[in-house]
Amino acid sequence: MLLRVTKYGEAILRKKGKRVEKFDQSLRKLAADMVETMHENDGAGLAAQQVGADLLLFVIDLCWHEELNRMRYELDGRHPPLDLLMPMVFVNAQLTPLKGEMISAEEGCLSFNDICGDVCRVDHVRVEYQDLDGAKHVLVAQDWLARVLQHEYDHTQGVLFIDRMESQTLRGIESRLKKLRNTARKGPAKVEPDMGEE
Ligand SMILES: [Zn+2]
Repeated sequence: MLLRVTKYGEAILRKKGKRVEKFDQSLRKLAADMVETMHENDGAGLAAQQVGADLLLFVIDLCWHEELNRMRYELDGRHPPLDLLMPMVFVNAQLTPLKGEMISAEEGCLSFNDICGDVCRVDHVRVEYQDLDGAKHVLVAQDWLARVLQHEYDHTQGVLFIDRMESQTLRGIESRLKKLRNTARKGPAKVEPDMGEE
């Protein structure tokens, strides 16, 4: 089922995710719907906050990336082919930046429509997470994978990519951000039938 993607200006995007305690059918359904929604919108990742849930949960899919099989990573000390792992679901992820280069690259975000901007991030991270069965894993990643993991992990902490942009980059997209924020406040939140009390 396709889910509505929340937009910049909606309060849920600033909410920290709660730990997932139940690894049940409803978690599977939510994750599957998030993957479907991510694919439909041509996204590389999608976090729970972007579909209206404050959970420590995100999904990624980098199958479209030309360099996919050249990316450096290690999952539980092994190197399984990334295209077989995708899409990946991360439950209760904790991300630690590792020593590495800081790299600036242009990012977009499904909650920001087509607004893009350069974001500087470390090129080496370690993510401890659980899969949909609750099994624990450790993913150490570099390259674009490390970037996407940081972007999505940030969402689960209520942090957005604009928070990590330099002020010069922000100035360039300021007016479009303002427009999006105002639209989100007036618009979609009200037409959602299950969101208001009345
Ligand atoms: Zn995003």
